[in-house]
Amino acid sequence: MSYTTRKRIAQLRETDPSDELIEIFAWVRTKRDSKNVCFFELNDGSSLKGLQAIIDKAPNESGTPDLQDEIDRMQTGCSIRVAGRLVESPGKGQSVELACTDLEIIGEAPADEYPLQKKRHSFEFLREIAHLRGRTNTFGAVMRVRNELSYAVHRFFQDRGFLYIQTPIITASDAEGAGALFQVTTMDLDGLARSGGPVDYQHDFFGKPAFLTVSGQLNAEAYATALERVYTFGPTFRAEHSNTTRHLAEFWMIEPEMAFCDLECNVELAADFVRALLSAVLERSPEDMRFFDERIEKGIFADLERVATSTFEHMTYTDAISALETAPRSFDYPVSWGIDLQTEHEKYLTDEYIKGPVVVTDYPKEIKAFYMKQNPDGKTVRAMDVLVPRLGEIIGGSQREEDHDALVTRIEEMGLPREAYSWYLDLRRFGTVPHSGFGLGFERLVRYVTGMQNIRDVIPFPRAVGSAEF
Ligand code: ATP
Ligand code: MN
Repeated sequence: MSYTTRKRIAQLRETDPSDELIEIFAWVRTKRDSKNVCFFELNDGSSLKGLQAIIDKAPNESGTPDLQDEIDRMQTGCSIRVAGRLVESPGKGQSVELACTDLEIIGEAPADEYPLQKKRHSFEFLREIAHLRGRTNTFGAVMRVRNELSYAVHRFFQDRGFLYIQTPIITASDAEGAGALFQVTTMDLDGLARSGGPVDYQHDFFGKPAFLTVSGQLNAEAYATALERVYTFGPTFRAEHSNTTRHLAEFWMIEPEMAFCDLECNVELAADFVRALLSAVLERSPEDMRFFDERIEKGIFADLERVATSTFEHMTYTDAISALETAPRSFDYPVSWGIDLQTEHEKYLTDEYIKGPVVVTDYPKEIKAFYMKQNPDGKTVRAMDVLVPRLGEIIGGSQREEDHDALVTRIEEMGLPREAYSWYLDLRRFGTVPHSGFGLGFERLVRYVTGMQNIRDVIPFPRAVGSAEF
């Protein structure tokens, strides 16, 4: 069973008919058995469409052995080894099929127990069997597109000289006050509760409170100010109680960080990045993307194609507020200078006002993190959000404050513990440089690209409030 010589279905579907005897290992999706012939559909996960196989039961000169016992045991979901020859297919939608001459059942899937019998199951039902849902068309396609996107992320940065660095998952500081943190402890909580005693973190593993990271950015900055351009692509955690279709408790984030890079450079990088990701998936996963277009979100293929070739318009937050204030429609959340833009506002700007992707920059400092570089106006910071049609924000980033004293002032104004940031301030004490970066939530991207409605359906095993099965 060498994996190197084994042919996969995606490859075989593109192969011309021939007399060569080939062997396939796969799972059975459907079977139609009749007196003279048995048709069955094989899928090995290599592509959306499987391969049709036929067993000709009529006695013939090829001397096909009697496979009726195997055919009877072959049910939807079982794993098999088949051998045969590729022949021209008379059927629609495929150029070849397998004329099967040997069939071995590897693992049965009893029809009265295997849950994936119907052609279509609801996503809610499939979430309950996340360990099996990868065997459906939709989840196979989602995971292939997810894989293609993650490969494209690495390719994009590697092609441009960015170093992939791994930032810590356990951290002792709430980096940005970005959200609710998961605490990490080895303390005996039950024992503490019983004794009623005070919590002494000196006895905890790290000698102080520790948490799961919400972002790798601050650590990435340390390496960007050494290696000039780096990126992280790792898990992040937020104890979000919001039970939405956009939030997970555990998600993956991509965070490039670049030295000698101002906000304009950051905008350029972000737009190039989004375009490259979309182009890559359209080019490399056309079959899966057509499936999403047909079954999940009509028109998504052309929509993404348009964004992939768009120039990204640029507007300041202040201009965005003016556009919203004079919009020929009302919003649930009232608009005035100083508000954080809500999804409805972002969608208006990108879907209706600009009618394409747009980068909004220079937000009020009050609604942004302490590390963003302040503008001379004293009111705004060099922040940027990239908004795309249908979704709203896909990327958030900024030029970072590289001036030591300005950063200290901001930390103190915001009442953050200065000592915890002393290492971060060192980056401004020694060889400081203008630098910028951004964050893109990977599952938000996969959801945008596939058109799937719920973020829990674009990650293999979702973790969200009240749910950590499998
Ligand atoms: P939102 O307002 O949608 O909760 P946020 O303002 O908390 O987002 P950031 O703190 O800027 O988001 O995080 C950076 C990126 O991480 C976001 O643009 C988004 O793509 C992603 N992200 C944030 N929170 C989550 C979450 N709970 N699940 C999945 N992705 C998330
Ligand atoms: Mn959030």
